[in-house]
Amino acid sequence: MEKTCKTCNHQFEITDEDLAFYERISPVFGGKKYNITAPTLCHDCRQQRRLSFRNERNIYRRKSDLSGKEVVTMYAPESKCLVYDQNEWWGDSFDPLKYGKDFSFDKPFFEQFKELMMAVPRISLINKEPENSEYCNFAFRNKDSYLLFTAWENDGCCYSNRIGKSRDTFDSSNVINCELCYSAVDSENSYNCSFIKNCSNCTDCILGQNLRGCKNCFASFGLANKQYCIGNIQYDKEEYERRIKPFLENLPKAKEDYFNWLKKIPRRYMEATNVENCTGDNIYNSKNAKECYEVKELQDCKFVSNATSLKDCYDINNDDHSELVYECIGSEKNYMHIFNDICWFNSEIAYCSLCFNSKNCFGCIGLKKNEYCILNKQYTKEQYEELVPKIIEHMGGIGRAHGASAQVERESGSASSSEAELKENEWGEFFPMNISLFAYNESMAQDYFPMDKDNVKTRGLRWRDDEEETPKIGYKLPDFAKDAKEDICQQILICESSGKAYKLLPKELNFYKKTNLPLPRKCPNQRHKERMALRNQRKLYDRKCDKCGTPITTTYSPKQPETVYCETCYLETVS
Ligand SMILES: [Zn+2]
Ligand SMILES: [Zn+2]
Repeated sequence: MEKTCKTCNHQFEITDEDLAFYERISPVFGGKKYNITAPTLCHDCRQQRRLSFRNERNIYRRKSDLSGKEVVTMYAPESKCLVYDQNEWWGDSFDPLKYGKDFSFDKPFFEQFKELMMAVPRISLINKEPENSEYCNFAFRNKDSYLLFTAWENDGCCYSNRIGKSRDTFDSSNVINCELCYSAVDSENSYNCSFIKNCSNCTDCILGQNLRGCKNCFASFGLANKQYCIGNIQYDKEEYERRIKPFLENLPKAKEDYFNWLKKIPRRYMEATNVENCTGDNIYNSKNAKECYEVKELQDCKFVSNATSLKDCYDINNDDHSELVYECIGSEKNYMHIFNDICWFNSEIAYCSLCFNSKNCFGCIGLKKNEYCILNKQYTKEQYEELVPKIIEHMGGIGRAHGASAQVERESGSASSSEAELKENEWGEFFPMNISLFAYNESMAQDYFPMDKDNVKTRGLRWRDDEEETPKIGYKLPDFAKDAKEDICQQILICESSGKAYKLLPKELNFYKKTNLPLPRKCPNQRHKERMALRNQRKLYDRKCDKCGTPITTTYSPKQPETVYCETCYLETVS
């Protein structure tokens, strides 16, 4: 079925397989199935809408609305929601049911949900068992780390996102088991490597992509188990060491030359390891994962990004270990989970935010081990099962005898959608962007779907301006840490790209001393942006292998300069 996206007006396709999924994930109450109607937004616009609810990388200081204690939080001081310190939030002094409300059939559901969002205190941030790692979000058991986002079990790491089990690693994205690495992207099990992407089991490599098990390689691509290569040319140890010296003295220039050289190298149509019937990019150990990005261990999933161990899930960002989930963001270990934001360890909940260890709840916020709640109000099982169908119908959903075929649903679906359009259907849609507690440019939507301030305002969304005035002239930074004066960590540095002020941490200075890498002339945010730009956009193009003409589905747009090969041609030519 072809549809026109309600937001961007582009045509998109809904397959029979998609419809079967929506049918499977649809809840049943009192023998009636409340079918999730086919999406009205294309998958890009759906992803943008979800991402506008996730602020991963901006954190602030403000006061806890419970104790007045100063807290580090993902909610900007001017956002009007209440914020509790995370320990206070998890403690007994916060009772989410205290904020319970009766459902009103005179108002839209989303309006009532927004009112509840403004009433129920939010958890300052999610940072479990930190050790000297206060400034991390969506984080678990990190030690001596700073500004890590989506991070678990790291030690001495800074300025990174999606990082796990790593040590002394800086400025990296989507890495695991790395040590002393810098600017590593989509890489794992590597030691003392910098400016690498899609590398694994490498040691002492600088500027490398798609390297496997390499040691002492410089500015190389697609090598396996090599040592002392520069630009994929083999040297002996002495010659290698002699030749890389001038490059190391002017690494920015070497980097520029490397990226120009890369443009001429045939690329693999997609980054994937051990996959079957998958499309997207950076996919590992997965089967039937369609249009998925930066994912591992997926089975029968579609439109999923940044996720691990999912089965039968559609439209997910940042979720791990779940099954039968649709249109959710920031969740973990859930089952039959639809339209939720930051919810973990739940089953059969819908339209909830910040709910944990709960079951059978609808439109709730801040629950911790609850069941049969609607808008944070406690009901009995019988009352819950009677009221939820009425709310779904109020939202534009239609109940049908359970067991009626999907075909019946599909045919009648067209009639109901015109009816529903009159009163703006809510059922089947994720929360609208304008009720997000984050400004658009604070959220991850800005990373993947950037908009300027005017556009954001035109769409009725919030924009956040930087509050700080930055000085025009910053401290003059030497090239290398060895030439830095003692007081450099107290100095205000000015980013050469964004003009924003930043500082060097003593820990960071040590890292640059240890690795002999040049001191950064750009602020951490700019460095993050540049790492993100190393990846292709999350978009697929049908084109042909530039060598054999086999049809391929790839993130390389036909406009990009790279030569793109199918798997067979790539393996023959490059590795
Ligand atoms: Zn769209
Ligand atoms: Zn080919």
